[in-house]
Amino acid sequence: METKLIRLTEDDVETEQGQEALREAGEIIRKGGLVAFPTETVYGLGGDALNPESSRKIYAAKGRPSDNPLIVHIAEMEMLSSIVEEIPAKAKQLADRFWPGPLTMIFNKSDKVPLETTGGLQTVAVRMPSDKVAMAFIKAADGYIAAPSANTSGRPSPTVAKYVAEDLDGKIEMILDGGQLCIGLESTIVDMTVEPPMILRPGYITKEMLEEVLGEVAVDKTLLDPTSKTAPKAPGMKYRHYAPKGELTIVDGESAKVVDWINAHAKEALEKGQKVGIICTDETKALYPQGVKKSVGNRQNEETVARELYRVLREFDDEGMEVMYSESFAESGIGVAIMNRLLKAAGHHVEHI
Ligand code: AMP
Ligand code: MG
Repeated sequence: METKLIRLTEDDVETEQGQEALREAGEIIRKGGLVAFPTETVYGLGGDALNPESSRKIYAAKGRPSDNPLIVHIAEMEMLSSIVEEIPAKAKQLADRFWPGPLTMIFNKSDKVPLETTGGLQTVAVRMPSDKVAMAFIKAADGYIAAPSANTSGRPSPTVAKYVAEDLDGKIEMILDGGQLCIGLESTIVDMTVEPPMILRPGYITKEMLEEVLGEVAVDKTLLDPTSKTAPKAPGMKYRHYAPKGELTIVDGESAKVVDWINAHAKEALEKGQKVGIICTDETKALYPQGVKKSVGNRQNEETVARELYRVLREFDDEGMEVMYSESFAESGIGVAIMNRLLKAAGHHVEHI
């Protein structure tokens, strides 16, 4: 199949060309095809959430295990009631505060949502994205868009369209290229079917932000204890999202000691003839004389780290790094989500020094 790549940023949405692209994208969805599109978090691979055949195609295009449910994207609050059994009062409060935005809520599903979309579960994950292109696309498809991240299963989620094409070119009908995305990590997932509501995946919307609205919020224990034998409540969290081709170690400790430790180990690996990558920050980049170093952002503004992390991981893979060292990040605010993704990529391999 030939994949059509169309540039469509926020500024293009209202133009005639933009409208035409959106009409075409909507038509593809209605016919059961797939369109990758930008959101404020990562690129999504969209299909008609109410069409079981479309969901099957999404799993096939990604090579995703079929027990890993998809998130259903909506563009208006009125669309929620027909796909869920009920809307708990707390979910209304969160929607008022954080929708549209990077928050996914889990509800008991209505019969309208096929089990193919929910990976066989009786619950459904729903999000209303804030990205203008995503909104316009969902409306153009006048529907419910099932969309996981637009990557091959096991690779980092794409934050630029180039990486969507790398994984999905030839497998889907269209890619809408909205440029570089602003958040860069997947949405926060909160289960609203339990009391208190429970965070199943950390993201840009932090526990503190949710608690400001709701009071008590629980966290899935498996997020806090990676050695736990219990299955995570979000099926996708059990998969090692991304296994880099090389070996990634996170180095945790006081900054100067971390730099010394990484430099010593990088030197050793280089002497063995290995390709070495270092994931560092703007503050420390100049302190690593050897190896290929890439800054993921600025510690004063960890949102920059969230935005760049997946891109850097992809680049190191493309460049064939055999050994990688990463500085670690504070586990507060957006740092919780950053460390969650980084630890998964490292297979929880951390050196505490
Ligand atoms: P992705 O869109 O690729 O970031 O993956 C969606 C994530 O949402 C995966 O981790 C899923 O396991 C999770 N998810 C989707 N639907 C549900 C649900 N009904 N219950 C729990 N987790 C869900
Ligand atoms: Mg994903």
